[in-house]
Amino acid sequence: RAKEQGRNSFQLYQPAMNARSLEHLALETALHGAVQRDELLLHFQPLVRAESGELAAAEALLRWQHPELGLVSPADFIPLAEETGLIVPIGEWVLRHACTRHRSWCDAGRVPLRMMVNISARQFRQETFVDMVRRVLVETGMEPALLTLELTESMLMEDTEASVVRMQQLRELGVSLALDDFGTGYSSLAYLKGFPIDELKIDRLFVRGIDRNPRDAALVSAIVSLGHSLGLRVVAEGVETRAHLDVLRRHGCDLAQGFHFSQPLPWQSFLTTY
Ligand code: C2E
Ligand code: MG
Ligand code: MG
Ligand code: MG
Repeated sequence: RAKEQGRNSFQLYQPAMNARSLEHLALETALHGAVQRDELLLHFQPLVRAESGELAAAEALLRWQHPELGLVSPADFIPLAEETGLIVPIGEWVLRHACTRHRSWCDAGRVPLRMMVNISARQFRQETFVDMVRRVLVETGMEPALLTLELTESMLMEDTEASVVRMQQLRELGVSLALDDFGTGYSSLAYLKGFPIDELKIDRLFVRGIDRNPRDAALVSAIVSLGHSLGLRVVAEGVETRAHLDVLRRHGCDLAQGFHFSQPLPWQSFLTTY
């Protein structure tokens, strides 16, 4: 606290920074009540089989509908939620909400669908994380085999042994694990070998140029082979064009996700579209 105040009084002499920290503070205050005020919502983006285009899964993506700021993107508030610890209650809300939506999808007799939920580093490190997941599964009646949690490499690198233990506990619950944004973290193949994961999601950074740049295509092809040789399913993120999809198919990528198929959609639109 004292340190924070010291920093703020220092910033009084730097008007631009002070304005930014005030904005930060206002956003933090607003985010505090966002769950209670019912301002959070989830959009859902389809993942389809690259070969057939069939719907295979949906990724839940968090949105914040602020009364004055409008729709705030997760890139703008998730780091803040991480920093303040608010990600813990928010993350639980996300999981519960996604599982509840999934329940209603099943109850309506729709095609089997996997639900993918993003987990943040601070959330994953909570002592009570696995218990929270177990509780939400029971309370929502979510079938564990249809839930996939998305983790990132960087969050697993912090304490790899503890991470592996936690990942094993999650898999014992019956949920599966995906490595999100694959290729952008400190990808160590040795670690990859030791992580109990089911799926790799190739970051869109690598997908963007695959139809024009042979080096990008070579990288994606190598990641698909690597994933398959480790028995993992491989997903490409950021599939924006038919040309992207064609290259991915040629390289045997399993699933595809991106604007070529659909933007993330509000639940109602997802229901009527699929
Ligand atoms: P992510 O998990 O890698 O999600 C994919 C992001 O790429 C989403 O951005 C999605 O809208 C966007 N995207 C999908 N297809 C395309 C495409 O074809 N082209 C381009 N350019 N972008 C595409 P979004 O929804 O803004 O989310 C950004 C990030 O925020 C997510 O990246 C994830 O790291 C984080 N996030 C979102 N929801 C949650 C959440 O509930 N919990 C946590 N911890 N993080 C979340
Ligand atoms: Mg994700
Ligand atoms: Mg991703
Ligand atoms: Mg990404």
